[in-house]
Amino acid sequence: MEKIIPGYKCESCGTIHYPNRARCKKCGHDVFQPVALPLDGKLLTFTSIHNLPADFEITHINLGIVELENGVRVTGQLKTDEMHIGMPVRGKVEVVRQSDYRKYHGWTFYPIEMRDDTMKE
Ligand SMILES: [Zn+2]
Repeated sequence: MEKIIPGYKCESCGTIHYPNRARCKKCGHDVFQPVALPLDGKLLTFTSIHNLPADFEITHINLGIVELENGVRVTGQLKTDEMHIGMPVRGKVEVVRQSDYRKYHGWTFYPIEMRDDTMKE
């Protein structure tokens, strides 16, 4: 089964938050419903990290902030070295770090090829 990381929709005004908050940033209400977030978005900004802890068996990771189609912004790993601001990306939830017995899941983003529609569901 695909893992998902939900957003949290305010029951009063409908604003979607990610990650979850104690109170709605718009109206101050404190009851939320988990909702699925769109997976597609565009890259707002990015950085590369080269000094990783020893248990990462890779040379560097690229991190980006992505604005999803509903305006929610999430941080995740970029699974490409060919990134540029504004590029369309598709999100996924997968293992982003593994140490002895634990797996850590998080957002990852892959470039969306714009020249065809074969990746669209
Ligand atoms: Zn609200």
